[in-house]
Amino acid sequence: MSEEEKLAAEERMIDDEFQALINDYLNSNHRRKVEIITKAFNMAREAHKGVRRRSGEPYIMHPLAVARIVSREMGLGSTSISAALLHDVVEDTDYTVEDLRVIFGDKIAQIVDGLTKISHGMFGENVSAQAENFRKLLLTMSEDIRVILIKIADRLHNMRTLSSMTSAKQFKVTGETLYIYAPLAHRLGLFAIKTELEELCFKYEHPEAYAQLEKKVEMTSQERYEIYESFAEPVVKELDKMNIEYEMRARVKSLYSIWKKMQAKGIDFSEVYDLFAVRIIFEIFPGMDEKKQCWDIYSAITDIYKLRPDRIRDWVSHPKANGYQALHLTVMGPDGKWIEIQIRSRRMDDIAEKGFAAHWKYKENKIEEDNELEKWLKTVQEVLANPNPNAIDFLDTVKMNLFASEIFVFTPKGEIKTLPLGATALDFAYNIHTRIGDHCLGAKVNHTLVPLSQKLKSGDQVEILTSQSQQPQREWLNYVTTAKARTKIEASLRRQRRRVGERGKKMMEDFFGEEEIDNTLYNKALNYFQVEKREDLHYGIGSGDLKLPDSTEKLLKQREALQPKQDNLFVRYMKQAMGAIKKTPEENKNMAAEQSVPGTKNGAIDKKSVFKLQEVNFKKNFIVAPCCNPLPGDDVFGFITDKEEVEVHKRSCETGIKLKSSFGQKILAVEWGDYKQYSFLAAIVFTGIDRLGILNTILSKLSDGIVVNIQSVNVSSKDGIFEGVLHVYVHSVEDVNALSSKIAKVDGVTTVHRALI
Ligand code: MN
Repeated sequence: MSEEEKLAAEERMIDDEFQALINDYLNSNHRRKVEIITKAFNMAREAHKGVRRRSGEPYIMHPLAVARIVSREMGLGSTSISAALLHDVVEDTDYTVEDLRVIFGDKIAQIVDGLTKISHGMFGENVSAQAENFRKLLLTMSEDIRVILIKIADRLHNMRTLSSMTSAKQFKVTGETLYIYAPLAHRLGLFAIKTELEELCFKYEHPEAYAQLEKKVEMTSQERYEIYESFAEPVVKELDKMNIEYEMRARVKSLYSIWKKMQAKGIDFSEVYDLFAVRIIFEIFPGMDEKKQCWDIYSAITDIYKLRPDRIRDWVSHPKANGYQALHLTVMGPDGKWIEIQIRSRRMDDIAEKGFAAHWKYKENKIEEDNELEKWLKTVQEVLANPNPNAIDFLDTVKMNLFASEIFVFTPKGEIKTLPLGATALDFAYNIHTRIGDHCLGAKVNHTLVPLSQKLKSGDQVEILTSQSQQPQREWLNYVTTAKARTKIEASLRRQRRRVGERGKKMMEDFFGEEEIDNTLYNKALNYFQVEKREDLHYGIGSGDLKLPDSTEKLLKQREALQPKQDNLFVRYMKQAMGAIKKTPEENKNMAAEQSVPGTKNGAIDKKSVFKLQEVNFKKNFIVAPCCNPLPGDDVFGFITDKEEVEVHKRSCETGIKLKSSFGQKILAVEWGDYKQYSFLAAIVFTGIDRLGILNTILSKLSDGIVVNIQSVNVSSKDGIFEGVLHVYVHSVEDVNALSSKIAKVDGVTTVHRALI
């Protein structure tokens, strides 16, 4: 293709894109003001002529794309579309705001002026931009909310085309987007845009995690499809009988929200159980109340599936401040897992996805953007001014307590059990069956491991974990409130005590051999062990709490000091296990010094070999950011501090996000260099069921095959659940993952995740 042909093809592409914009506009029910849009387009095309974006595209394609977002995805009218087409004209070309005022009038000129001010004032290259101020600016500027909406559209297009930017610029843009634009879009009710912004940030900041998650969601789609199908079958049958027109489908959560959940809870993909929600969108039946239709569908579904009463959200009667309306309910699906269902009319769905502008579609007559915006603005300003948007969702805070003195909880199969208020997981276990109670090892409430003493709430789904080797403990009596559980535990404790006592008695008989154990002998033994009753003596010997001396003479002649009270089993094993590592804190300290860990004062190493700048060759010192403590292998970026050092943060670091959005020009792209020779301190947190010797098992698994340099292990245990924190020196994030998966394989361990130090 010759140069001329190429240019001609480009012009055609621009014309086509403009025609598509006009078609979008004509498909909306705004008044037909094609003329002013065409005028704006012609001026912008002329003004940006010969200029190209970094990607090589003609520049005008960007304002065109922004205008299409404004029209199609936000539902705005001709004033906004024209301003979007002109949004970069004053900033990037010789035209002034005055020129625009003469040609397009006050309104459009004012909006473009606002857009220019935002990018100059706050994000100009020379100014140290401050995100907090920017947010305030946005709030006060909402006198014309269209400035904000077009700015969001501008950002969305820049995010969609982010791949042509340098890495450092990418991090600046994603940081701002997560900190300012996504929350703003959310508050304005632009749900689809908010989700896309977050998804794109995730993709650029954590490309590998994104790709992996995308693959996992894809690989498990058949499984979800089957659950959905078996859920949907009876529902479809019912709804079809009701003679309504509707659409029902399963909606998978965004990858970003799945990932965030995994990070926040330290869980694996397979443990995220609410991967999808079912959405039912119905067409409003003429002459019928929309709200009534929602509740009709609700009642059809709850006739089939068991409802979780504390999870009803009625945003039909009480819309959210950003305009969201829907009826949400959670029922127990055919596989025993909770499924969330969202019921909406077509109108409510449009509003949920596109925000308030979607209201206009449902007006009878052709609308005037200015008038409608004014009404909308009032609502939006209220939302923006509210410092705590969560306070609006008042239904969240109002707990639905249907029965004051009783709670009802579910078995994994969806059976309802009624228990008195205050009942615990252990009460539940005994409620099902005495055998389940007696062998109860732990419980999962709503798929999360909890102590046996956990108080249950209405709507909880409770699964009891059992083991044949488990038996009732004395402290269990503190955990139960029901009479049935109490009686059963006491009976079992008496049986246990009797058995141990019998064993103790036998041990004593063996100890004295031929000698007959008469009253005198008993009294000497009671005196020796400082116990009062024979039963206690038998029990103590049988349980090992009282140790018989090497010879009968010792017992008969001298009374030794009573043995120190013993630790509980877990603590004892922990001590043994720690001993097995054979390192005192002092030794550990020395080792840490030798290792010269980057980020510590001891680290007199050449850090330049640990970190590499991707783009510019700076001669700067590197420090590991203490807020997120990245390890080699983590996705990272660099921040130039006031001391001219490069602080290395994780890309997902909360502090880092603020830095990226506030000090974009101080962001550097950094990657890991030759770090293999250095060690970094990492923390791993694990939880599980406290069973005999589990820590021993964990520690032996850890040192199995590789040399692990453990700094410390701390374990705390409560009601049969323990939490351990392992501090260990590693070379990279892969080491942490390898160690974590070793721990995870130990029987009884339920969660393992990396933690901040
Ligand atoms: Mn722009």
